[in-house]
Amino acid sequence: MSSVLKRSFGIKQGVFGSFGSRYISTTSKLNYAFAFDIDGVLIKGNKQIPEATRALKLLNGDNSSNRRIPFVLLTNGGGVTESQKAEQISELINVKIDPKQVVLSHSPMQNLAKKYSDKRVLIVGGRGRSCYDVAKNYGFHEAVTPHDIMHWNSSSWPLSTPTSDLSMLTNPAQEFSQLPIHAVMVFHDSFDWGRDIQIMLDALCSHNGILGTRKNDYTVQDVPLYWSNVSLLKFPFCFFTDFPAPRLGQGAVKVALDSLYKTLTGKNLQSVSFGKPHAATYQFADQVLDAITTEKFVGKRNVYAVGDNPAADIQGANGYGWTSILVRTGVFTGKDNSKEFPAQIVCENVEEAVEKVIALEEGKL
Ligand SMILES: [Mg+2]
Repeated sequence: MSSVLKRSFGIKQGVFGSFGSRYISTTSKLNYAFAFDIDGVLIKGNKQIPEATRALKLLNGDNSSNRRIPFVLLTNGGGVTESQKAEQISELINVKIDPKQVVLSHSPMQNLAKKYSDKRVLIVGGRGRSCYDVAKNYGFHEAVTPHDIMHWNSSSWPLSTPTSDLSMLTNPAQEFSQLPIHAVMVFHDSFDWGRDIQIMLDALCSHNGILGTRKNDYTVQDVPLYWSNVSLLKFPFCFFTDFPAPRLGQGAVKVALDSLYKTLTGKNLQSVSFGKPHAATYQFADQVLDAITTEKFVGKRNVYAVGDNPAADIQGANGYGWTSILVRTGVFTGKDNSKEFPAQIVCENVEEAVEKVIALEEGKL
């Protein structure tokens, strides 16, 4: 544990409210940055968390030295482009967020676009064709969706009806009996589990990616599978629902698909997972911080990860070597710290977290 953090534990909570931007030095070298979770930290459902505006304004230079402290928004949410999410958050909290600062669950998957730029990739999840638009934007030029498969052959899942809205399709004339699927990528929650699991299984069990065929031997998995977020449960405010118990998330689809694949083939389904708490997502966020930071960092950069979900935000940050800060405005509402995934610092809200870190880093504690 760093000496800075050791000192932080000696400070009583409540004191931090008195620290503010006036402590930011104009001469010290910048060696820290922030990564904020969104739901439960900056917003809750479609409402802002009141302290979020002040917290981000402090980092945007609304302080005595006019210094900008770099930050990214790091969320397991998705299903929209980074620009759309930046616009949504900017409006809700009244602080301008640049799309470059937004890391969604599927953002790290854009690094796969080079490998699959001209390969047919099945993009699963999201409302309508929103995730297809995201994938195209990343550079997956041959992306297709379950809507395309259903339009090609509605018998592929007879329990759902193909969309009558042809604008949902990537290309209405695709003949999938001749067009292999090279990879399956789940970008967001499935809006039709039965259809999507069936079509994913069809691709994963197929001979050379041709839908409707079956392999003779499942020893080697030909079609790679990628998940953007494997959280089993979603908390109601993330789903804009007031139901009093958690809802099934993308991770639940993974459990179902893994089980079905094992039952049908006798083999374990291999896949790669992104999203918090997986390291690949933190590596990507680190790249983003490098790209958005204009002031040169001196020495090792301390990244403070502020989140409300111990299993995702705190476990992920601790595992990656960032400093974890747990806030009480979302999933976690306990008095002390999470027992399962304890954070290095616990704060009431995001404003307290930012003020506390600024004070720590500027050496005023
Ligand atoms: Mg959250």
